[in-house]
Amino acid sequence: KKIIITIDGWSSCGKSTLAKQLARELGYVYIDSGAMYRAITLYFLRNHLDWTKHKAVEDALTKINLEFLSNHKNGQSEIYLNGENVEYVIRDLVVAEKVSEVAAIKEVRQFAVRQQQDMGQKKGIVMDGRDIGTVVFPDAELKIFMTADNAIRVERRFRELYEKNPNITIEEVKANLEMRDYIDSHREVSPLRQAEDALLLDNSRLTMREQLDIALKWVHERLKM
Ligand code: C5P
Repeated sequence: KKIIITIDGWSSCGKSTLAKQLARELGYVYIDSGAMYRAITLYFLRNHLDWTKHKAVEDALTKINLEFLSNHKNGQSEIYLNGENVEYVIRDLVVAEKVSEVAAIKEVRQFAVRQQQDMGQKKGIVMDGRDIGTVVFPDAELKIFMTADNAIRVERRFRELYEKNPNITIEEVKANLEMRDYIDSHREVSPLRQAEDALLLDNSRLTMREQLDIALKWVHERLKM
């Protein structure tokens, strides 16, 4: 038996780390739904799109093809935008500054959610994001909602970004996380919230091994049901 596992929560609290660990342990497919919103944002930015115009957004979406392909070297799935690997460029702060605005557009969400639901037809997936347990897979067998202390989240994301860009400041990273969390939880379409049947995982004081063990215990409980 294979199930669908959803992981939602605040920005930078380790959702993708846990999702990848779980996928590896269980032999499941990991899907990073945030990468889709980031890739769409990258396309809009590169094409200087005025995304306040519905028609412009609709037209642009017809020209976007997103794919997840596995990297031969490490087996990790990476996102492709119209055939180009954009897994790394979409992590840039330039994209992070605009992604929540783009992700709040109804047409953009419909476009992404439809593809996410198609990917779930096979079961055996772990998908992380903001609305996966509430909107994309409301019937998922296991829903996890992750949280961590603000200071810890800022620190983690800062370290990640600093490796690639030593000019980045902790204040910039903090402001970006706060802004995204605010927009993500206040938008009209599918705001970020914990599904009623989601299990809360606060990993502020957990090691990666401990958080994985907690989640695996939940998975095995679900598999027995
Ligand atoms: O997960 P990540 O931080 O890469 O997501 C980037 C942004 O994409 C989020 O801040 C949010 O605005 C948007 N997003 C979303 N719904 C999802 C996943 C991401 O709105 N399911």
